[in-house]
Amino acid sequence: DPTLLTHLDIDHGVNDALTVRGHPYPKDLILDELKRRVAQVDMSGCEPGEEDAFYVADMGEIYRQHMRWKLNLSRVKPFYAVKCNPDPEVLRLMAELGNGFDCASKTEIDLALKTGVDPSRIIYAQPCKTRSYIRYAAQKGVKQMTFDNADELYKIKADFPGAELYLRILTDDSTSLCRLSMKFGASLDTARPLLDLAKQLELKVVGVSFHVGSGAEDPAAFLKAAQDARWVFEQASEVGYELHTLDVGGGFCDDTFEKFASILSKAVDDLFPANIRIIAEPGRYYVAGAFTLAANVIARRDVYDPQVSSQSSYMIYLNDGVYGNFSNIIFDHQHPVAQILTSANGTGASTPNSSVSSSPGAGIEYSIWGPTCDGIDVISERIVLPGLVDVGDWLYFENMGAYTRCSATRFNGFPDNHDVIYISSENGASALLDY
Ligand code: PLP
Repeated sequence: DPTLLTHLDIDHGVNDALTVRGHPYPKDLILDELKRRVAQVDMSGCEPGEEDAFYVADMGEIYRQHMRWKLNLSRVKPFYAVKCNPDPEVLRLMAELGNGFDCASKTEIDLALKTGVDPSRIIYAQPCKTRSYIRYAAQKGVKQMTFDNADELYKIKADFPGAELYLRILTDDSTSLCRLSMKFGASLDTARPLLDLAKQLELKVVGVSFHVGSGAEDPAAFLKAAQDARWVFEQASEVGYELHTLDVGGGFCDDTFEKFASILSKAVDDLFPANIRIIAEPGRYYVAGAFTLAANVIARRDVYDPQVSSQSSYMIYLNDGVYGNFSNIIFDHQHPVAQILTSANGTGASTPNSSVSSSPGAGIEYSIWGPTCDGIDVISERIVLPGLVDVGDWLYFENMGAYTRCSATRFNGFPDNHDVIYISSENGASALLDY
């Protein structure tokens, strides 16, 4: 329904949500909020940690992504993958939008239930579960869960025989950013024996699930997986099951979404009749662009070396790194890009005492490091920024909403619970969240 997007505050043209990202309105709003917050920090007198890194989360961006989903994948109901960013406000918005939740553990089940959703809006989508968690899911009425091996079926038989089961099948995830199929998924060879065993154990198989890998690059992977799932539906029918749901997993990315969505929509429409419910487990797609991180420059080292180059460069050290919110560099293969938020030098407030000279417009070369004592803690090995960055200045990084804060550690004693300031560039989201 093309009218879906007409009530968005930002007009990005029907089916062309990509232009939103470059739209000045939300970016200005986010930058204003980042600057408002850093202006409150007295760099020469603040309490320990008051200058810690923090996020600004634009809930309007999540709202827009949801509308874009509905426009392009109207038949597919999202079960947001909590693991990607379990921020309580994100979960609250997902619940308000009518989405379900994909949970991987007891804690995630609790977080999802805390939003007030019915347990039927949760799928415990981890094919190799902890037994006590299976019993917990039973106790909480979270019936939907995935499996991909015989041992899991025996566990479920013992701990939650009334569960509603999805057979997770293997996919070709060779082009994805984070591959999952070396760890999970039943091959087509084993699908039939598993269905036979489930029948023999009198378990209830209700659907098939797959995941083409997080950050998938080849939309054909969805087509092949949907075809394989269709075959498993037929096998299940021969065994005596009438499957009612296909779960197409996650893997959707912001910049390829429309292409993937059109291939997937056609595949499910061609292969699965309208009475089959289609669900998905998107994570990154919803939240990656919604979070912007600001971090403080806590130290700087001049690496001017006339023997190597007449140009000079700096090593700068931030109060956040790969053991913190930049864990996405290690675990999610991301390359966050620094931008200058505030520069005392740029405003003429301080002149650095350094041998590095900068000519206007030429840019200055930096490497950017995290705060721990580990050499692996590097955010950018080389980046050219337009101005001189000094100790006390702030940098910001866009697209920091997926697989960042959730995989941060407290290594070297640095915090893993950085503040989040919530704003909304869409009235639709503000209304749902009451702000
Ligand atoms: N579902 C499952 C079972 C996953 O393992 C993941 C990510 O690892 C997701 C969904 C979310 O994937 P994405 O963030 O790529 O959409």
